[in-house]
Amino acid sequence: MEHCELCPRMCGARRTEEAGGGFCRLPETMQIARIAPHLWEEPPISGTHGTGAVFFSGCTLRCIYCQNSEISHKNAGRPFTPAQLAEKLKRLVDLGMESISFITATPFIPKILEALNLYRPPVPLVFNTSGFERVETLRMLEGVMDVYLPDLKHYSPSMSRLCTGVEDYFKKTGPAIREMVRQRGTPVYNEKGIMTSGVLIRHLILPGSTGESMKLLDWVHDELPPGIPVSLMSQYVPCNDVQVPGLKRRITRREYERVQNHMLALDLPGFYQGPTSATKDFIPEFNTDASFV
Ligand code: SF4
Repeated sequence: MEHCELCPRMCGARRTEEAGGGFCRLPETMQIARIAPHLWEEPPISGTHGTGAVFFSGCTLRCIYCQNSEISHKNAGRPFTPAQLAEKLKRLVDLGMESISFITATPFIPKILEALNLYRPPVPLVFNTSGFERVETLRMLEGVMDVYLPDLKHYSPSMSRLCTGVEDYFKKTGPAIREMVRQRGTPVYNEKGIMTSGVLIRHLILPGSTGESMKLLDWVHDELPPGIPVSLMSQYVPCNDVQVPGLKRRITRREYERVQNHMLALDLPGFYQGPTSATKDFIPEFNTDASFV
């Protein structure tokens, strides 16, 4: 790839098969850190048997508090060709996965489309993203991804800059989520309760940031069509020896309840993952032989 502009960083970097010169430092060849059943997504994504999760290496956002920094910051992973990925997708389907999740996949979208041309799994395809996306790039996925699972992380430029280094996270993510909603709209479920089409927004409450959370929920309520669910998450754990004083603790029950009550007052549909789920035990093993089906 001579000139990569797949994500809002718009580096214009040259990415060869072996090396990448952009912010993400990713080559053109897919790098993948884990392909395995994953049971811990929201019920309409994981169902009973799990989603077949493909964790791609790298991240175009790289939040300082990321729990998966081994892959998002350090790019741990192994190279895969489209044919090799197609083979693994088939294996996941044979294992009975309820859906297939492509996680932080943006830098590899052209290669993923090649893999899906070789094999299209007969289960919903989920695009799991930080939300920091370009509308133009999302249009490449129109008619391919069935479900969008974007994060909605930061509202203010100052919080965004502090956590990700970019000021315009919300400025980019708002239009990206609108595009996802334009493509797939409100959720449709099958008889097993698995989402077969739609958008589900995730929001992780950060310590000391309930005001940000409430502004983001207001935006969902005011700007998106009714019926787009929000998954409210409380499992923030200080990671990566984060040095920002306010981010060195978990959130309190009071903070969680404040945001939860706001979401209830707005009557937004969704899921609540309360403070008891705040543990590092949810972090899967990456880039070992056992990480791949
Ligand atoms: S995907 Fe990587 S190389 Fe391409 S624009 Fe984004 S950060 Fe830059």
